[in-house]
Amino acid sequence: MPRPVSYNLIKKPLEADISIADMPGGHHGEGFFATSLDKVIGLARKNSIWPLPFATSCCGIEFMATMGSHYDLARFGSERVGFSPRQCDLLMVMGTIAKKMGPVVKQVYLQMAEPRWVMAVGACASSGGIFDTYSVLQGIDQVVPVDVYVPGCPPRPEAIIDGVLRIQDLVGKESLRRRNGEKYKALLESYGIQ
Ligand code: SF4
Repeated sequence: MPRPVSYNLIKKPLEADISIADMPGGHHGEGFFATSLDKVIGLARKNSIWPLPFATSCCGIEFMATMGSHYDLARFGSERVGFSPRQCDLLMVMGTIAKKMGPVVKQVYLQMAEPRWVMAVGACASSGGIFDTYSVLQGIDQVVPVDVYVPGCPPRPEAIIDGVLRIQDLVGKESLRRRNGEKYKALLESYGIQ
């Protein structure tokens, strides 16, 4: 007699698991819908983020769980993980970054094309974490600008997903021209980036 196998411990209708991206604001009537170009581009960008995982230690393991079937980052359009900076738009730094590794993080960031965003995942990437030592970078924001910090040591997959959702908020609302703005240019210049 085969053992009974149950894949869904809590039974629920399939439709409850399926959600569709929110429609951007605009005007609609019978047979038409009008909105602005930056809203459409924001909608497309935020639901097709390609992450570059820069994982050096334990937080990277949590990211593996985040990509697995249980948490499934693909639900947010970010399942296409890339290891070529030129093809990615979200740099996810996860783990302890030694000072020697700082220039490498910066080089990877420089190789990414605009628009690009950065997420510091976990205490080490955000602030050096428990490693308040001479050899560890006390936060990656010393070498590259960071958009979202995810707290925790390690952060659970839910926290990493929450960080991706916060990045999505930024990406969806960001003006197309922000990257050419004076404030953004000044921020990059403060990091010695042209
Ligand atoms: S924040 Fe904690 S879990 Fe993450 S890399 Fe640092 S020590 Fe490891």
